[in-house]
Amino acid sequence: IIEARGVHKHFGALHVLKGVDLSVAEREFVFVIGPSGSGKSTLLRCLNRLEQPSSGSIMVDGTDMLDVKTDINKARQRIGMVFQSFNLYPHMTALGNVSLALRKVLGMPRAAAEARAGAALERVHLGDRAGHFPGQLSGGQQQRVAIARAIALEPRVMLFDEPTSALDPELVGGVLQVMRELRESGMTMVVVSHEMAFARAAADRVVFMADGEILEQGPPADVFGAPSHARTRAFIGQIE
Ligand code: ATP
Ligand code: MG
Repeated sequence: IIEARGVHKHFGALHVLKGVDLSVAEREFVFVIGPSGSGKSTLLRCLNRLEQPSSGSIMVDGTDMLDVKTDINKARQRIGMVFQSFNLYPHMTALGNVSLALRKVLGMPRAAAEARAGAALERVHLGDRAGHFPGQLSGGQQQRVAIARAIALEPRVMLFDEPTSALDPELVGGVLQVMRELRESGMTMVVVSHEMAFARAAADRVVFMADGEILEQGPPADVFGAPSHARTRAFIGQIE
């Protein structure tokens, strides 16, 4: 469902992605790991064209993301993205935050948007917090609202960039649980994260990036258990 080929990205003189090839199958859960600055976030941002690659090709769900003729806003509706920071509107309730996306992006009328938003909040186990404002929710709950906002749009793919990095340790589990359930529901997911135990337990494939390149990839048991590249070994040793 994702086909990225030979993706390069330069920021001025900085060569951040050096010909990345990444294919993701429908319903696959791909976990991206690698040192800080290796280009993980840039790669995710290129996939939904929040960042314009310098060269290469990116197809998502049959749409050429780099074609100038592509309606990029429409294409992005099929790609949900969750960041480290939740970016909720503080003056709107959880339900308001999720339904606003539906009203703005899909043009849904308020009642229908709120019904769908309520169902999305149920999916992240926040049905009883719909009327709460972000300031009344824990960081983990706010992140689950952000996930609900993304899944309410019924994307074909979900991209997560360090979704638990900003959370206190005791709040991480709830977010990972929601991600696990999403995955079990058949969602295609690409996740950048340092939660190695979660990757081991849940991912179909682990991709190790360093210096703008994919150095190694495979089933978690292989990448973690018997990394073939010295840099992968060093990185995993550091994290665990
Ligand atoms: P981290 O684990 O710290 O999040 P990362 O693997 O996600 O790192 P990126 O955020 O993709 O790394 O950054 C890769 C490189 O590109 C870094 O050297 C970063 O400073 C640089 N970079 C990222 N975005 C920009 C930008 N908008 N302008 C200039 N340089 C950038
Ligand atoms: Mg990053």
